[in-house]
Amino acid sequence: MSIELGKLTIGGVREGLKSRAFSAEELASEALRSAGEQNATTNAYLTFCPELALEAARRVDQAIAAGENPGPLAGVPIAVKDVIVTEGLRTTCGSRLLEHYIPPYSATAIHRLEGAGGVIIGKTNCDEFAMGSSNENSAFGPVHNPVAPDRVPGGSSGGSAAAVASGTVVAALGSDTGGSVRQPASFCGVVGVTPTYGRVSRYGLVAYASSLDHIAPFARNVKDAALLLEAIAGRDPRDSTSADAPVPDYAAALDGKVKGKRIGLPREYFQSLASETGDLIMTAVDVLKRLGCEPVEISLPATDYAIATYYIIATAEASSNLARFDGVRYTTRSEKAESLISMYRNTRGEGFGAECKRRIMLGTYVLSAGYYDAYYLKAQKVRHLIAQDFAKAFETVDAIVTPVSPFPAFKIGEKVDDPLAMYLSDIYTITGSLAGIPCMSVPAGVTADGLPVGMQILTRHFDESGMFRLAHAYEQAA
Ligand code: GLN
Repeated sequence: MSIELGKLTIGGVREGLKSRAFSAEELASEALRSAGEQNATTNAYLTFCPELALEAARRVDQAIAAGENPGPLAGVPIAVKDVIVTEGLRTTCGSRLLEHYIPPYSATAIHRLEGAGGVIIGKTNCDEFAMGSSNENSAFGPVHNPVAPDRVPGGSSGGSAAAVASGTVVAALGSDTGGSVRQPASFCGVVGVTPTYGRVSRYGLVAYASSLDHIAPFARNVKDAALLLEAIAGRDPRDSTSADAPVPDYAAALDGKVKGKRIGLPREYFQSLASETGDLIMTAVDVLKRLGCEPVEISLPATDYAIATYYIIATAEASSNLARFDGVRYTTRSEKAESLISMYRNTRGEGFGAECKRRIMLGTYVLSAGYYDAYYLKAQKVRHLIAQDFAKAFETVDAIVTPVSPFPAFKIGEKVDDPLAMYLSDIYTITGSLAGIPCMSVPAGVTADGLPVGMQILTRHFDESGMFRLAHAYEQAA
């Protein structure tokens, strides 16, 4: 029996199990085998969990044999970014500090995946504590883009994007704070979805910048991403910021009509684009036009301030969140610890990589007594202006379309010594994050060099259905 894992969708898994073309256990074994094999090239996985995966798969097979409903994600091989905690399974956050950390509980999203019959095969590499745009900030080495192994897969959820793109799993979970799911999805040619802030519980997502963090799905097509989101979304009493809004049947919403929808094209996002990326996005807009959508030029004037605003708010929150890694509770403790203070200092000095240290320092600075009003408070006010820009735009348009990134996947090492250049690559993704609206990346073709380029679609708060419908219509037509 041969399983073409790289082509399977969630629906394909369901069919295969039903027709007995394969069992969930066979599928899980094949996923583990292919992931293990490809890891030598991609370094996408940090940990595999064969026992847990095969056990979960057997439960699915038993449920099917007993005539029970095995769940909407039954048998689907899934990879999980290593910033989402998994009970009994090592969770490193891409950091030396947590190299040996075994969490005593699982994130709510993990419970929901497992409850839906999903089969987690391993934990994926990422930038340390999800800070980065290239996956080069992992303590365990960079991830190589499966499309072009000398290039980055994007970050910080590069491992999850690569795991899906290389066909080792059908879907994956990542986390997105300022673009960490959409940008790697764009660089690797897969679908990545950042839902409305609060749509998915953050319980068990190791915090980077809490007011911006999301758990977010990757898949090979829009429908699978919608199914995965549906499985993990919804109110969770363990996360007070999770929204008490009903979760629609996203997959059922895919086939609605998009004719007559007004699509906003923000002029600020099309000014300084590498021409190939710009051309591909405009070609995608032409496809939407053919589907009967009406593109309209709009303006989001506060966009210019987005990078500065994001890197003040995110670092401020990070400096506070990362204070817990002190060598007392879960982290590896420095051997050099003569006093309590030197233990803290050495543990954090040895354990955090350069990017985390840079952000802790920056965040501490913007929160400090003399500067709080000048930086942090100001940034919060500008965040409000950015959100207002979107709210105003959505008075006249149904969705906004932009590039995900100014350029396709860059070479490993190309930007790593220039943090500012790296930060600037987030220009098109962080605005949606600051506004808390749903946004996603859908593949929009490849450059002459064969590098994938993603189109970003953004909609109103909680209008994931509208976003999926537009993305799906584009995907079918393109
Ligand atoms: N690249 C952005 C950063 O470094 C976004 C990261 C993320 O979304 N986790 O903060």
